[in-house]
Amino acid sequence: MKRYDFDLLVIGGGSGGVRAARMAAQRGVRVALAEAQGLDGLGGTCVNLGCIPKKLYSYAAHYAEAFQESRGYGWEGEAPSLNWNTLKSRRAQEIRRLNGVYANLLRGSGVTLLEGYAGLVDPHTIQLASLNADGSAGHQRYSAERLLIATGGQPFLPHFAGSEHVISSDQVFDLEPFPQRLLVVGGGYIACEFASIFNGLGAQVTQLYRGEQILRGFDDEIRHFTAAEMKKAGVDLRLQAGVLAITREADGLHVTLEDGNRLLVDAALYATGRVPKVDGMGLDAVGVAQGADGRILVDAHYRTNVPSIYALGDVTSRVQLTPAALGEAMQLVDHLYGPAAGKAARTMSYELIPTAVFSHPNIGTVGLTEAEARARHGEVRVFRSEFRALRHTLSGSEERTLMKLVVDAASDRVVGLHMVGAEAGEIVQGFAVAMKAGATKAVFDATLGIHPTAAEEFVTMREPVATRKAD
Ligand code: NDP
Repeated sequence: MKRYDFDLLVIGGGSGGVRAARMAAQRGVRVALAEAQGLDGLGGTCVNLGCIPKKLYSYAAHYAEAFQESRGYGWEGEAPSLNWNTLKSRRAQEIRRLNGVYANLLRGSGVTLLEGYAGLVDPHTIQLASLNADGSAGHQRYSAERLLIATGGQPFLPHFAGSEHVISSDQVFDLEPFPQRLLVVGGGYIACEFASIFNGLGAQVTQLYRGEQILRGFDDEIRHFTAAEMKKAGVDLRLQAGVLAITREADGLHVTLEDGNRLLVDAALYATGRVPKVDGMGLDAVGVAQGADGRILVDAHYRTNVPSIYALGDVTSRVQLTPAALGEAMQLVDHLYGPAAGKAARTMSYELIPTAVFSHPNIGTVGLTEAEARARHGEVRVFRSEFRALRHTLSGSEERTLMKLVVDAASDRVVGLHMVGAEAGEIVQGFAVAMKAGATKAVFDATLGIHPTAAEEFVTMREPVATRKAD
């Protein structure tokens, strides 16, 4: 007779939770997964309200440029106009398909799916609050040898006069009607992506960032270059700017800015960071230690201070990226239940995580910024190439591309690689492999380019623009 209902009970059906549940089940472990949004919501933020729908909207927005630019190539006729409702419903249809794929993958691996909101009762037990078929509330308890919390994060919205009128990225996909005038507040990934997307889709976008330059944490040149390109594309980007108050009137949202200026918009999107989703989970009652921002604290093997409880992904606020949650899940399962037959146990490395911001143009980056490289390595050589892509010689677009390599002078290793330009995410993914393998600048130099591409610039930069030392 088993002591617990399950060996592993995963709370949260997002990227990390689903991967951990599936992999553990494939090793013969008795696994359950509880998802508060129900089975139709499987996939978490990435599938439902993040990476996937965002990228679909980004593709939609890029068509606007493509229609415009095609004239330079001889295409004639009226440019098509956007049917926002079609885009929304096509996106929703695709997300529903993905929800179903996730449910099938879990079922196919033998994972028991539990629908409802899971709260911790003790170190081995959850209580699942769900709706019964007759509409009454159901409370069912389940126990497991180990619990894994993978509940992700949620948008953080500041409070101020009129903040009840703002929306987060959770609401932006289904805005009704299309926001002809959109205010975006923030200077991170989400703000830059949605400012670019809605600008491309035809809205008049004002983006406010409280600091000196958007995209804090990215390479300084990349930040400045991206800001300049976004402005050139039509985003009214205002730095060292913020909102004082918002009121709703018949003609829209009246926004008073800190500098006294006023704006009239249809919607105000706050992309001001995300916080761990832990409300009402009973972490206190069970004694799970949390950081000041609510994040669940874990050790190198994703174990909390309560030995039977583990956590990974955004709820631990280490690196808020889907591939990081997937990597963490795979390390955890290999650690707890052993690697797959014939494979070595996987480990998650937080070094050299490639990432992209799907602003227009995109940013792709892996490794250290120039400033970080100088601080870590002392002397660095910086290679830089800025150009107008071949495509734009005829398209008429003024968009420019920036590529930058940061090389540790002592070892010749490429320690930072950054790009702003079309398909930067696609391009940088491949170079991240080379950097993981420890490629030196000499290896880059010995690699032939693929001509004519933008990516070949990364292997044809011969002369450093500078040799810079630590400050
Ligand atoms: P970020 O932390 O990247 O950015 C938050 C932004 O909001 C910063 O510019 C911050 O300014 C600003 N901000 C914070 N608080 C306030 C406030 N009270 N008033 C005004 N501005 C404020 O968070 P995001 O919400 O953009 O995204 C969350 C995370 O999700 C990202 O860090 C990323 O890891 C992940 N993500 C990844 C994507 C991808 O891979 N393409 C896409 C989208 C999200 P300051 O810089 O001054 O702190």
